[in-house]
Amino acid sequence: MKKLLSALLAALLILSMTACDSGAGNAAQTGGGDEFQKNMHQAQGFGLWLTTFCETEDGFYFEYGPLYYLEKATKTATVVCGKPDCKHNDATCNAAINADALWTSGGKLYYTTNDYAIVNGVREDYGYRLFSVDKNCTNQKKIQELDFEVGGNNSVHSTLPICYRGSVYFVYSDILYRVPLGEDVKKAEAIWGEEAKPQEPPEGLEGFGGYTGQIITMTGKEPSYTLWADGDYVYFMVNTEQDDGAQRDTLFSYDVNTKEVKQVWVTPTADVVGPWEFAKQQSNVTSFTMSSAEDVDQWYVLDGYIYFFLSQNGMWRCSLTTGEYEKLADTTAQAEYGTAIFSDDYMCLLNDGPALDYFTKELAVGSPQRAGGDTIFVYDLSGKLLKTLPLTGLLEDREALGYFLLFQSGSQLYFLADAGIVTDNGPTTQGNFTVSGEQKEEHNLLCCLDLETGEITQVMEFDH
Ligand SMILES: [Zn+2]
Repeated sequence: MKKLLSALLAALLILSMTACDSGAGNAAQTGGGDEFQKNMHQAQGFGLWLTTFCETEDGFYFEYGPLYYLEKATKTATVVCGKPDCKHNDATCNAAINADALWTSGGKLYYTTNDYAIVNGVREDYGYRLFSVDKNCTNQKKIQELDFEVGGNNSVHSTLPICYRGSVYFVYSDILYRVPLGEDVKKAEAIWGEEAKPQEPPEGLEGFGGYTGQIITMTGKEPSYTLWADGDYVYFMVNTEQDDGAQRDTLFSYDVNTKEVKQVWVTPTADVVGPWEFAKQQSNVTSFTMSSAEDVDQWYVLDGYIYFFLSQNGMWRCSLTTGEYEKLADTTAQAEYGTAIFSDDYMCLLNDGPALDYFTKELAVGSPQRAGGDTIFVYDLSGKLLKTLPLTGLLEDREALGYFLLFQSGSQLYFLADAGIVTDNGPTTQGNFTVSGEQKEEHNLLCCLDLETGEITQVMEFDH
C-alpha cells in the first residue's frame, strides 16, 4: 500500500511541482543526532493529501499543500509562511516547499524535492536536491544534490530518503546509497542493489509527467525500498525473489559502524504464521503497480524486533537475531481486516476494511482503498489490550466515511477523517439514462485521539 501511494505521490509531485529558488551554493554542513523519527512514518509516507511529517519538542511540521506547524499544547495548525497578505496558494509562498522527505535537526528543517525553475518560460530541471530552511521557512539553503545525473534516475524517487547520524540514505537507479550530509553526491557509497536496466515505457505512457524514455516501467520485480533506522542499524525493506519464485518483502540491516549488510527477515508465509491477507499491491490504476511482492500491512522495527500486523490474523513480532516469531495478539475478534499503526509505546488497530472496488462493486480485498471503521483498539507492545476507544460522535453534523491513521506520539494518535458531506437529491432521468442524485463534498479532518482519555480533538479541516 505504501509503495503504491508513494509511487502515485511521486507521480503527482512531478505533475504538480511549482518553481522554487535553487539557492546559491552553500557551505557543506555536518549533521548529527538521530534525525530519522520512526513514529512519524517518515519512511513509509502518507496518503495523497497529507504527505510529510516531522516532530519537534513542541509541535509537528507537515505538508498539506503548504507547510504547516501544529503546536502540541494548543493543537492548532498554522501555515509556516509569515509573508504579509500571502494566500499560500502559489510558488511565491514561503511555505510552498514541495518536500517529499522532511526532518529536523539542529534547529532547522531539512527536506528533499525535485528542484527546477522556469527560465525565460522554459523549465530547467536541477534534479533531486536536499535543502534546509529555518523553522519559519526562510533562509533556504541547498545542502547537496541527491542526483548523480539530472533525469538519470530510473527509480522515480519513489523511495523517501532518510537522514541518520549525519548521513543521508537514498535510492538512485535501484541502488541504495549513503552519503554524509552536505557531501558531494559523487562520494556516495553504494550499500545494496543492482543498477536498473533502462527499459521502454509502457504503451501510452511515453512522456508521462515530463519523463521520456526509460522511467515508468513496471514488471513487478523492480526493487521498491522502504528505509528505516534504529540503534546502530539502518534497515531497508525491499522486495526480493524467493526460492519458490514469489516476490516477498525482505528486511536487511546495515550496521552503520561496520557497514555489514545482513538479511534479517522475510515476509512470512501462511505455513509459518497461519493464513492472512497480504496487500496485493494492485489497484485500479494498474499502470502504477510498483511491485507484486507480498508484504505486511504495517511494520515497525524497535530494539532488534520487527513488529507487524497481519490482516485477518493478528499482531506479531519476530526477533531479527533468532528469527523467532511471537503472536502478540489475535485481532480477529476486534477487526476482520483492520489497519494498524505502531510507536515505541503502543500498537493501535482501526477496525476498517477493504473498500468496494470502483468497477466491480465487490470488496477489494488487498487493495489500498479502505472504508468504514469506528473503533480504535489500543495494545501495549506485549500485545495486551489496554483500551477500546470509539471514534463515533466525532462530528455533529455528518459522518466520517473513513479514517486514515497518520502517526502516534506519546499518548496521542493523529488521524485523518474523510468527512465527506453526502447529499442525495434522488435519481433524475437524463435522456435514456437514470443518474444518481448523490453528491459528495470532500473534506479531510485532521484529528487527535488521546489514547489515555479517549478524547478526540479536531485540529483542522481541509478541502480536498
Ligand atoms: Zn504564504
